[in-house]
Amino acid sequence: MEKKVIVIGGGLAGVEAAYQVSKRGIEVDLYEMRPQIMTEAHTTGFLGEMVCSNSLGSCSISSSSGLLKKELEMLDSFFLKIAEKNRVPAGNSFAVDRMKLAEQITYELKSMRNVNLLNKEIEELPEKDIPVIIATGPLTSWEFAKSLTKTTMRKNLFFFDATSPIISAESIDYTKVFYASRYNKGEADFINIPLNENQYNDFVYDLINAEKVEIKDFENNIFFEACLPVEEIAQRGEKALAFGPMKPVGLIDPQTNKMPYAVIQLRQDDTKKNFYQLIGFQTRLKWREQKRIFRKFPGLENAKFERYGRMHRNTYINAPLLIDRFYQSKKSKNIFFAGQISGVEGYVESINSGLLAGIFASKKILNKPLYNLPEQTASGALINYISQANWKDFKPTKFTFGLLPDIKVKKINKRTKKELKAKIAIEGLDKWIKKADI
Ligand SMILES: Cc1cc2nc3c(=O)[nH]c(=O)nc-3n(C[C@H](O)[C@H](O)[C@H](O)COP(=O)(O)OP(=O)(O)OC[C@H]3O[C@@H](n4cnc5c(N)ncnc54)[C@H](O)[C@@H]3O)c2cc1C
Repeated sequence: MEKKVIVIGGGLAGVEAAYQVSKRGIEVDLYEMRPQIMTEAHTTGFLGEMVCSNSLGSCSISSSSGLLKKELEMLDSFFLKIAEKNRVPAGNSFAVDRMKLAEQITYELKSMRNVNLLNKEIEELPEKDIPVIIATGPLTSWEFAKSLTKTTMRKNLFFFDATSPIISAESIDYTKVFYASRYNKGEADFINIPLNENQYNDFVYDLINAEKVEIKDFENNIFFEACLPVEEIAQRGEKALAFGPMKPVGLIDPQTNKMPYAVIQLRQDDTKKNFYQLIGFQTRLKWREQKRIFRKFPGLENAKFERYGRMHRNTYINAPLLIDRFYQSKKSKNIFFAGQISGVEGYVESINSGLLAGIFASKKILNKPLYNLPEQTASGALINYISQANWKDFKPTKFTFGLLPDIKVKKINKRTKKELKAKIAIEGLDKWIKKADI
């Protein structure tokens, strides 16, 4: 067998997979269709572009994304190493300058001797006797998605997500907002827009009655729960936003010395602080409606929208039917899936699955045994879940502590329990790294 792996898609999962294969001395053909063919969400031709939020989540290992990042670090994640060099301040969160990060990832991968970057859309699965990692993401090109339906996917599944607007920093009226991090944890990195009860109620009314982008031409109108559009949350009850993305707890408005009724938080989107993103404000409102409604927020009266929130398509396979615990197709052992298309959800999860698919594909080509990841690890729990969930109702899944096996300890609070689970996960992964010779 030729000692080469093909990676299709140079997004978060694809670049990580390509690096892992390459660092094991195996040649990689990495196909990325951008910039010739763009997706609905990417804006550059760079590899590893984060299309929406610039945050990789919390850094605390007792948080889901924190533990997953810790495991990525232990597994020598390429994406995380470069991300570290492009961090921007965001309290206890790991936020980055998305563009600089993507530019550097592209540069680094292009400089690797055994990585061949081919800017070309793949329309059909290559018929070669070598491992292929499919990492074409939620916005997999139509041609390729169609051909996958014929070969590997039992059924094409689509649902919708939405992205948040980004505002130019110079267009914000800073006399009406305040800088703070929740509970004053870390630096005061976020811009906060305080709302009183009337302003909040007016906003909820506006949202519910605003014109939205119609959903058509697709099979389902299903939103992913962790990325619900604000107007969808507003529909669920008048206080739903105040308990969700607009919750004010831990924030005191210095002008009134009180906690506001509700808050809109803005997070720095680039190192130069030119742009800020409305946190949790994914939306499918029509653009003119976004301008009309969000400009009613104090401080945003003259906001310039660098990017409006928008809807997007999400393509993924029915993982429990199609893949095993090595992100490997059950039917065709040369095919691996990685990233969002494999049935995981989120940046960190996509990087994690790319990393593992890269390792497993390399092991296969080197005729080395594959070892199951311990279920006590975040990485193991995630692939266990997506490969064994109920296929009838399968949806892309984020890692949560709930996926880890329970531990029986008496009188312990939730946080301490998570810390204990995290410790077990780290020890388990350490053992696996040694046993599986990673
Ligand atoms: C609009 C949007 C917003 C999102 N926001 C967030 C968020 O804020 N936070 C979060 O955690 N997750 C978010 N996600 C979910 C997910 O984490 C990201 O989509 C993540 O980038 C998935 O990584 P991936 O590698 O699977 O796909 P991608 O990073 O999208 O990479 C797939 C790559 O494959 C390429 N490609 C597609 N088809 C072909 C083909 N036929 N031939 C060659 N190349 C091809 C694409 O151009 C792309 O570069 C969002 C998803 C979308 C679509």
